Parts: sequence; structure tokens; C-alpha cells
Amino acid sequence: MRQKSDAGRLTTLRWSLRGASVSIEMNAKPAERGNVTIEFQEVEYCVPGRHSAPILSQISLKILRGETVMLLGRSGSGKTTLLKLVNRLLKATAGTVFVNGASVDSMDPIRLRRGIGFVIQEGGLFPHYTVAKNVVVVPRMLGWTLVRWVERYEEMMRLVGLDPKELARRLPRELSGGQRQRVGVARALAADPEILLMDEPFAALDPVTRAELQREFAELAKRLGKTILFVTHDLREALRIGSRIVMLAEGRIVADAAPENFLRIEHPEVKAFAATFEVQSGARG
Ligand code: ATP
Ligand code: MG
Repeated sequence: MRQKSDAGRLTTLRWSLRGASVSIEMNAKPAERGNVTIEFQEVEYCVPGRHSAPILSQISLKILRGETVMLLGRSGSGKTTLLKLVNRLLKATAGTVFVNGASVDSMDPIRLRRGIGFVIQEGGLFPHYTVAKNVVVVPRMLGWTLVRWVERYEEMMRLVGLDPKELARRLPRELSGGQRQRVGVARALAADPEILLMDEPFAALDPVTRAELQREFAELAKRLGKTILFVTHDLREALRIGSRIVMLAEGRIVADAAPENFLRIEHPEVKAFAATFEVQSGARG
């Protein structure tokens, strides 16, 4: 494996997969790490009232301040469920989820969610709110003054590469998919939450726009120093954005490593994901 630095940002690793050489962009810079921000202790989740197998079991995971942890797994592996346990949209049926050392069960859910930005697929914007109103929805709820939230709106839009004046009065349906995603990120960051939860935020985009947003977001994440939990089923996205990749399979954690070590893991699920690179890059040899 050879490493090549790309203008001090993303690193391109050349990886040899069964003889085929593949270029993969990675976020190879270590995150600035701090205290434990999110912790799962022996967490299990079963759908209340159902007696089928648990959706999540034996989840123990510590996420440090400033990490960007990619939750990678195939459809139905439990990624969204795990994310929702953090902001208490769901409650663990066994074990404990901690945010900054306190069990989320002991916290007021509204207060908990104010400290957590949440971005979902397609941005999850309010369709009848203008872009400006969407971005500052939390600051307004928190009672910020008009001057302060107008300033914040402009700052957030510039941060995600959008023109605040041009788009202020548009409705979400008058934006492109990529613009909607950016507005979704701007909104999640507007109240300056310590934690960001992102559920496949770029999944619905064309591959070129998607790659652009991934690169920009990887840079932004490093600059902002937030603690980020990012769900994806795309290994390339996980390598590009994450400072760490946690893989879920059938509701359990089966791999947990930094991007540069992830492809070395000898687990069949990791190998199954890595094999998709061979298909995608087969023509390059
Ligand atoms: P995807 O990549 O498709 O979004 P995911 O990894 O996010 O998948 P989850 O949404 O967490 O998967 O769901 C995990 C499993 O739990 C799936 O098998 C799903 O069918 C099941 N599940 C989720 N919510 C419920 C529910 N309310 N009742 C019954 N089963 C559920
Ligand atoms: Mg999901």
C-alpha cells in the first residue's frame, strides 16, 4: 500500500485487492480527540411488543469528542436504529446510552436534542418554510434575537457554500437535491450543537455532486471539531469522510477501525464491502 498526500487534505491510498490496484480517497488525518462524548454500554434494542430477534444487541462503543464515526452496514443492519438511540427518538430496551457522561434516559429529551444536530436523507426540511426559516428554526426556538439569527443564517449558508441572499426566500422544492442537502447541514449546525447525527444525508444525489459534498463535508468536519455519527452503506463514503469506521451486521458491531486500517480487517462483511471496489474499478486494472 502506498500513500500519496493530496494538498494536505484527503489522502489517496493505493490498495491492492486480489491483484487489482485501486485508488481510494481517505480521510487519513487523525481527528483531534477529546473526552468520551457518546457511549453505548451493552445496548440492546427490540421493537416493543415483538418477540422477534433484537434489532441491535451487545452494542458497546465509545465515541470521543471530535471524532467522525461512520456507521457502515448493509440495509437493515440497524444503523438508523442506533442513531435514533442517541437523541432518544428510540429508547434502548437494555443497556445504557450516555451523552457527555449522563444517561440519555435521565435527560429531558427536548434539551438533549437541542445539543444534537440531526440530518436525514433529502435534508428533512420543512416544505412550507423558506430556506432562511428552515435554517434558523432551532435558534428561533431558543429565543435568539432577530439580528443574531439573521447573522447566523448568513454565516451557515456561506459555510456550506450557498448564497444566503439568493436562496433566502426559496422553498425547499425550488432547490436542487444538492442544495437541499447543504441547507440540511446548515440547519443542523445553526444552533452550534456539539454532536451531529447524519443518516445517509448524501444518498439521493448523483455520484459527482455526492463526491463533491463528501469532500467538502470531510473538510468541514475537521474544521468544526464536532462529534459526528454518520450513517452510510457506502464504503467509499465511509473512507472519504470518517476518522473511524464502525461496521454493523445484523445488529452487532463486527468491525471498528480507522479508515487506513479498515480494509485489512479479516471479517466476511468487511470483505463483502471491499469486494464492491473490485467491481467498480475492474476496468482500471
Ligand atoms: P437502511 O440502510 O435500509 O436504512 P438500517 O441499517 O438503517 O437500514 P434500521 O432502519 O435500523 O436499518 O432497521 C434495522 C432492522 O430493524 C430492519 O430489519 C427493520 O426492518 C427493523 N425495524 C426497524 N424499525 C422497526 C419497527 N418499528 N418494527 C419492526 N421492525 C423494525
Ligand atoms: Mg437507515
